Amino acid sequence: MARKAVVVGGGLIGLSIARALTQRGLTDVLVLERHQLAGGGTGKSSGIVRAHYGVPSIAAMAWRSMPVFEQLGDQVGFRQVGYTVIVGEENVEPLKANTAVHRSLGIDVDLIDSDQLARLWPMMEVGDVALASYEPRGGFADATQLALHFGQMAREQGARIRQNTPVARIRTEGDKVTGVELEGGEVVAADVVIVASGWWSAKLLSGLGIDFPIEAYRSELLIVDAGEPLPNLPVVSDLVSLQYCRLEGAGQFLVGNSDHADFQKKFVDPDNYSNIASEASVEKYAEKVMHRFPGFPNPSVTHTYAGVYDVPPDWNPVIAPVGGVDGLILCAGFAGHGFKISPAVGTLVADLVFEGDSTDPDIPATDFRLERFAEGRPLTSPHPYIGAGEMR
Ligand SMILES: Cc1cc2nc3c(=O)[nH]c(=O)nc-3n(C[C@H](O)[C@H](O)[C@H](O)COP(=O)(O)OP(=O)(O)OC[C@H]3O[C@@H](n4cnc5c(N)ncnc54)[C@H](O)[C@@H]3O)c2cc1C
Repeated sequence: MARKAVVVGGGLIGLSIARALTQRGLTDVLVLERHQLAGGGTGKSSGIVRAHYGVPSIAAMAWRSMPVFEQLGDQVGFRQVGYTVIVGEENVEPLKANTAVHRSLGIDVDLIDSDQLARLWPMMEVGDVALASYEPRGGFADATQLALHFGQMAREQGARIRQNTPVARIRTEGDKVTGVELEGGEVVAADVVIVASGWWSAKLLSGLGIDFPIEAYRSELLIVDAGEPLPNLPVVSDLVSLQYCRLEGAGQFLVGNSDHADFQKKFVDPDNYSNIASEASVEKYAEKVMHRFPGFPNPSVTHTYAGVYDVPPDWNPVIAPVGGVDGLILCAGFAGHGFKISPAVGTLVADLVFEGDSTDPDIPATDFRLERFAEGRPLTSPHPYIGAGEMR
């Protein structure tokens, strides 16, 4: 039975874990954050909420998380505008197959044709859309607010949070974890250490000789002003033009890139990267927006920014004990998907701490082992989309 847990990283994932542990009765939980809460990938998140994933266990995690967004509602800026995936002819079969898997998991989703899509989304060009799926319970919310909410819940149940407190290394004795050492030299004892430090997790683990293959992938975002206030339009994953779009405030639209064909060219130093989109990208993305939404009355790009995904080789996270070190758990590598599944991730980590395994048959813990990379058994979708890397 765990007595004291240290969580390294005060992003959405670390704070969700702290909340889940305290909810299960472990009150001696300490979150250590090197900078400020939600200042990493969390602060850049597009906050899209949906259950559409090719990997069934991740779809199940997203679906388990949905009620949390629904219950929190305005507290985390949740707007349940619905979510749609649109595909061309080449991806009709994968869309049907994935939707069937989703239904078997209990996910509320329908297939819709381009006429139904045009009614949902009056400003959209649907001529090149062969089929779409529609999740009425999807939408978007605010990742920073959710992270701070989890932090607050954890604190109320006894957890402590220290910001501006970088962890320098993980301490072990024999095959057991004993705590962490802070950069100033202070030692914090713990019998469970959970590394939820995003891309930076690899450095902490390498100190123990554990290899966590992960890259930092820069992703650019555009804010487009539509020219007039917009109605409640569903979030769109456009697998034809390879972009995703959602409302942003009144009359604005957030547009992200889903074309990951040359992703290796966009690996960066996550502590030092350009926070605006390049001119070439703005031009390319704006062209796609104009093609897809010709009904926007007077569109213009108001500003851009960029964030960094922590990307393992199969674009799926590791949520597992690692290195054969008793009490050491890694929870990172969410590659642009960690927001919507964060509530369920906390639950899975609490399961690992208290039960030693997942308690949810739809979310097998074995899917998220670190060893899968060395064994050459990546976690992949049984029904991958042609040309669309983000639907992992
Ligand atoms: C541009 C962008 C858009 C996204 N859009 C979506 C989306 O629409 N839907 C979705 O589901 N997901 C999305 N995501 C993904 C999601 O936001 C992330 O997966 C999630 O926020 C990651 O949370 P995290 O806690 O793992 O990482 P982070 O938020 O990066 O937190 C890790 C923390 O660890 C801290 N840390 C690092 N090293 C140390 C150390 N040695 N000691 C102490 N602290 C340390 C860092 O300072 C950081 O605060 C997006 C991500 C980005 C970047």
